[in-house]
Amino acid sequence: MEKVALLRCDEYDVNLIEKKLREGFEFLGGDSFLKKLIPYNSKVLLKPNMLSIEKAGSPVVTHYTVFEAVIRILKDYSTNISFGDSPGFGDSQRAAERSGLLGIAEKYNIQFEDFKESVHVKLDDSILCKSWNVARAAYETDILITLPKLKTHAMAYYTGAIKNQFGCVPGTQKATWHTRMPDANNFCKMLLDLNTVVGTDFAILDGIVAMEGNGPKSGDPYSLNTIIMGKSITAVDSVAVRLIGYDNPLDIPVLKEVYDHKYGAVLPENIEVIGEKIEDLKAKNFKLCRKGGNFYFINPTVTNFLRGMIAPYPSLKKDRCIGCKRCLEVCPENPKAIYMINNNGQIMPDWKMDQCIRCFCCQELCPVGAIEVKYNRLGKILRMDRR
Ligand code: SF4
Ligand code: SF4
Repeated sequence: MEKVALLRCDEYDVNLIEKKLREGFEFLGGDSFLKKLIPYNSKVLLKPNMLSIEKAGSPVVTHYTVFEAVIRILKDYSTNISFGDSPGFGDSQRAAERSGLLGIAEKYNIQFEDFKESVHVKLDDSILCKSWNVARAAYETDILITLPKLKTHAMAYYTGAIKNQFGCVPGTQKATWHTRMPDANNFCKMLLDLNTVVGTDFAILDGIVAMEGNGPKSGDPYSLNTIIMGKSITAVDSVAVRLIGYDNPLDIPVLKEVYDHKYGAVLPENIEVIGEKIEDLKAKNFKLCRKGGNFYFINPTVTNFLRGMIAPYPSLKKDRCIGCKRCLEVCPENPKAIYMINNNGQIMPDWKMDQCIRCFCCQELCPVGAIEVKYNRLGKILRMDRR
């Protein structure tokens, strides 16, 4: 049975968050638990979510007060703490500065790792992917503590403790994985292998203000007033998705893969939730980015054909587009599935849908939220059948 601490926390007040986190660690075993998790002075890497260059307090990135509260607690167990991430687009140093994380790190003498240097690693006992390039700092740390943000996600439905480690793949190499794994199920298997490679040891999920709607970058803030923490990243994510409205965690592609491959605890009966009850913190009318369920019933040989008929697709909100071409830059396909058009003097993207693998990198990284996920009629009908 995996233990997960579920905490209510209503505001980004560092003293309050520190108090709540200390309560959470008490639930999990207190000082002896922490000493076991972090053998004295071992090298600890904190991995917040720095998806892109966002201002401090943005619901896209892990809040700097959560980061500070974690450091206040962990500094009693190690003097060798660093943090890092590699954003999907833009420079990691700027992302760390803008988010307020770098300022906090300097205050506590925490080193910043820009994740630009990678190391090649083999994973013989993988689910799918045996050969890896990951950030050296993430691979070589003794303890990796992930600090994800709870958000909706166009491709993965939800992003939290498991998916946060995709940032351990340096810079533009992330795009390569999307091209190699165009199928969402394989992409999720890859995420599990990645967590094995970097060895994620503990998760503290920032759900005080979560993101609903057009996540992971262009959704709306939602006060979920929650922190979730535990050693099992799969159990933490299982609790998180139930809070936001996926009653069956197996409706989330990556958690279905966890279950199928016995990677970790995901079913409610295998997870002990300590602290608050899920029912008491459940979100009301949380806007999901995608409804639960997956296309497992489709034979892979016809998936490509059916993708065009039923899969969700990226769609432009013309009035928002500023013609920056970032969507074109980040599209991992070769040739690109996006091209730019001039529509009465306004430069904007259009799509070659037969080439689009539905990775939603364009939606994820559009700086102004001008791309959203849409379903055609058949897709909507089939997905309603799965509910
Ligand atoms: S859709 Fe977004 S990323 Fe693409 S050109 Fe318009 S504003 Fe830029
Ligand atoms: S157009 Fe968008 S969703 Fe399609 S492959 Fe390119 S980045 Fe991915």
